[in-house]
Amino acid sequence: MDGVGRKRRQPTFAEVVRAVRAAPAAPPSEPPRGQLVGHDRLVDPAGREFVRIAHDVSPARALAAVVEGAQVVWDACGCDGYCGLDWLDASQVARLVAAGAPEPRRRKDRVSHLSAWVSDDGSVVLMAVADVHWGDVLA
Ligand SMILES: [Zn+2]
Repeated sequence: MDGVGRKRRQPTFAEVVRAVRAAPAAPPSEPPRGQLVGHDRLVDPAGREFVRIAHDVSPARALAAVVEGAQVVWDACGCDGYCGLDWLDASQVARLVAAGAPEPRRRKDRVSHLSAWVSDDGSVVLMAVADVHWGDVLA
């Protein structure tokens, strides 16, 4: 690229503006509710954002968190929520508490686990991933 006069022309301001206008609309600034955003952010159905504070919560700690009022969400297939997360309702959570501690059954790929998430206001979400057995709700 040594040819005189072959320098790439800079786009004009008007061209830049046209390109920006032609670009697809930016995604909505509201994160999708009830879903994982990337790997590190979780948005509950009410729109509150959570960050992960613990990756491998013990069954006893998981039960304690739920007894203290944590929401429970299940990533049943362990794909990071691409096919949706199941948010348990109050009666399902009550059944978990009645059943005692969960039993994560580790697969060979070690995908099955329990994680804890917290929001700015201190509320907690417990996430069960993949092959976690918990009463008759998660199996
Ligand atoms: Zn999936």
